[in-house]
Amino acid sequence: MKIPLFSLEGQYRQIRPGISKRIRRIFESHRFILGENVRKLEAAVAKKVGARYAIGVASGSDALYLSLVALGIGKGDEVITTPFTFFATAGAIARTGAKPVFADIDPETFNINPTKIRKRITRKTKAILPVHLFGLPCEMDEITQIAKKHKLFVVEDAAQSFGAEYRGRQTGSMGAAGCFSFYPTKNLGGAGDGGMVVTSLKKVASKLRTLRDHGQTKKYHHEFSGINSRLDEIQAAVLLEKLPYIDRWNRQRRAHAAAYNRGLKGLPLQLPAQPKGLDHVYHLYSILTKKRDPLLKALVSGGIGAGVYYPLPLHLQPCMRALGYRRGDFPHSESASEQIVALPMFPELKLQAVRKVVSAAKIFFSA
Ligand SMILES: *Cc1c(COP(=O)(O)O)cnc(C)c1O
Repeated sequence: MKIPLFSLEGQYRQIRPGISKRIRRIFESHRFILGENVRKLEAAVAKKVGARYAIGVASGSDALYLSLVALGIGKGDEVITTPFTFFATAGAIARTGAKPVFADIDPETFNINPTKIRKRITRKTKAILPVHLFGLPCEMDEITQIAKKHKLFVVEDAAQSFGAEYRGRQTGSMGAAGCFSFYPTKNLGGAGDGGMVVTSLKKVASKLRTLRDHGQTKKYHHEFSGINSRLDEIQAAVLLEKLPYIDRWNRQRRAHAAAYNRGLKGLPLQLPAQPKGLDHVYHLYSILTKKRDPLLKALVSGGIGAGVYYPLPLHLQPCMRALGYRRGDFPHSESASEQIVALPMFPELKLQAVRKVVSAAKIFFSA
């Protein structure tokens, strides 16, 4: 039995009839851009997340970029974020002309450490961009407090955490803007690229609506220079079909994580942190081991999918060289990138498959 790291097969089987019907309706309406599906999805996501407004965009990367632009962030500004994340987080900051400033992670949660944020604040700092990595919410009370004290915006990168909760509040709803990605492998994924910003600030919402559509305030009247970053109707239709399942799918992910935790307990591994009051959705189930590369090899050769997110922290990426960081600057991010490995995780994963992964790990560590 091969066990993939990720699979959409079982999910598609659940939703196939609904998806087909919705897509046929779009073709029959000939309306592919900014129609009723996008409007309905925006309303449904805003309601689910607990924000006043939601604005569909072309990707999670654009959600981040456009949020920063809508908040007036650009050249000469600094935005504090984590070096242990997908490239798009810092890429979006750089694209506005602002400077990404990194602060190291907490070695247990892999999320940005609020204490380290404090040390990186300068007169140029305009925003904090926390990432709810792998589906685990950041320490938002502390981050919000720091932001208030220094008059900074918080923009949440919730690309991996749709439906996750921090002390009863949904990730994405706690900052000035929250950014989601609907990339197909995300825990709420479309059938292509897509993203969404949620915000409760009316001005920011209306600026985002304009920015995603070339800065048009009315047809062919461009108030400022925006870009083409619209969510298309087919993506919105697929996401509307999937949205009612997301809490169930997240629960299934949590059950698999609990089974992994029980099975792997006692092995020389660091298991995912589960801080009290924080509701992890396990977009990824990642563990740490000093024997990462040999374990990865053993799993893969045994037909078990495993992956490394992320092998090189952002401060060491060639394109970030101009920022002047060196190896050793963020020791927790660096050691996580050397020791981390993600195990198979998707809602339809079978308990039998989890058991097989656990027993492969046990055999590896007993050798
Ligand atoms: C996927 C992802 C993004 C970017 O989303 P896209 O839709 O792929 O552009 C940004 N941040 C994080 C943490 C992500 O995982």
